[in-house]
Amino acid sequence: MASVELKGLTKRYGAAVAVDDVSLRVEHGQLVCLLGPSGCGKTTTLRLIAGFIEPSAGEIVVGDKVLSSPARTVPPEGRNMSMIFQSYALWPHMTVAENVSYGLRIRKLDKATIDAKLKAILTTARLEALAGRYPGELSGGQQQRVSLARALVVEPETLLLDEPLSNLDANLREEMRFEIRRLHDRYRYTTVYVTHDQSEAMTTADLIAVMNHGKVEQLGTPEDIYSRPRSEFVARFIGGSNILRGTALDANRLSIGNASVRSTGRTLQPGRPVALSIRQHEVGIALEAPRSDAENHLRAVVARQVFLGSARDYTVQLDDKTELRVTAPPGQNIAPGQAVWLHLPAEQCRALAED
Ligand code: ADP
Ligand code: MG
Repeated sequence: MASVELKGLTKRYGAAVAVDDVSLRVEHGQLVCLLGPSGCGKTTTLRLIAGFIEPSAGEIVVGDKVLSSPARTVPPEGRNMSMIFQSYALWPHMTVAENVSYGLRIRKLDKATIDAKLKAILTTARLEALAGRYPGELSGGQQQRVSLARALVVEPETLLLDEPLSNLDANLREEMRFEIRRLHDRYRYTTVYVTHDQSEAMTTADLIAVMNHGKVEQLGTPEDIYSRPRSEFVARFIGGSNILRGTALDANRLSIGNASVRSTGRTLQPGRPVALSIRQHEVGIALEAPRSDAENHLRAVVARQVFLGSARDYTVQLDDKTELRVTAPPGQNIAPGQAVWLHLPAEQCRALAED
C-alpha cells in the first residue's frame, strides 16, 4: 500500500477546465472523499488517478513513483488499483463466487490460494450464503457488496469508488455507508471515494475534499468541514447553516441591520461586506430581551415552526430579505407572528472567506 499524491493536477477539455490545479495527499490507509455537486470534476479526478485519462498539467505520485504527468501516463493495467463504478458491472453469467474470484484467476494464482482468499472476503462481505447465486438473483445491496468484494480481493494498493451507492434506495444506502467504512477499517486500502452526498462523506471519510468548479475548496476532517466551513459554498453545500450578511465594523465585529455581531474566524477589514455562517442549532431563540450587553442579539419574527419530536425547527424573519432557520429544544413553543430575540454566540459566528 502507498500514499497517493495529486500535485497541481489539471485536466482541460478544449477551453473548459474539468479539474483545476488540484493538490491533495491521501496517506497510506486513509479514506478521502471527494465531495461536491454534479459537474465539479470528481469523476474526472478519479479517472485521472486510475490512469484512464492523461492530465493536461500536474502529476500523480503513488508511493515514490510518478504514475501520471503530461509527458507520461502509466496505463490502468500498470497500476495496482481497483475502481468501482456507479453501475456495478457484475458479469451476469457468473456466480457470486466466480465474479469475486475472477481477478485472482486471471492473475493465475493456484487453486488453494484462490479458495482461501475467496472464502475470507466472502465472509467479511457477508456473502457466504450467496456464493452460488447469479447477480440477477441478488438485491441491489447484495450486488454492491459483491462489487466491493471483487475489488478488494485482489488487494489493490489503491481503491477508487465513484458514487458506489447511488443506485441503491435510501435505507440501503445508509446501511452500506457503514459497511464500506467497516471494510475500510478491516483492510485499510488507500481509498478515494467520490460522492455528492454529504452525509455519505461524513460517515465514511477520514478526510473530505469539498470540490467546486474543478477545485478543492476545502480539505478537512468531517468535523472540520461541518463545524468550520471556510467559504459560503462549503457552508451551503454541507447544509444545516445559516448565512448572514453584514458590513465589517472592525477586525472581529460586523453590523447586521442595527445589531453589532462579534465573529470568529478570519480578521475583518472595516467597511467590507462580510458573510458569516452559524449552524441552526447554535442560534438561541427567546421571547425576553437580552439583559444589558445586546451584542450578538438580533430581533426577529417567527414565520413558521415545525415540531420534529426531538427538536423544534423554526424559520424566523430577520428583515424583508433574510430568513434564518433555528433548531430549538422541542419544549420551546413560540407561536408564528411572535417577535423574538435571537442569540448568536460569537464563537459560533464564523466569518467566511470573501469570494
Ligand atoms: P462530476 O463527476 O463531479 O459530476 P465530471 O468529472 O464528470 O464531474 O465532469 C467535470 C466537468 O468536465 C463537467 O463540466 C463535464 O461536462 C466535463 N467533462 C467531463 N468529461 C469530459 C469529456 N470527456 N469531454 C468534455 N468535457 C468533459
Ligand atoms: Mg461523476
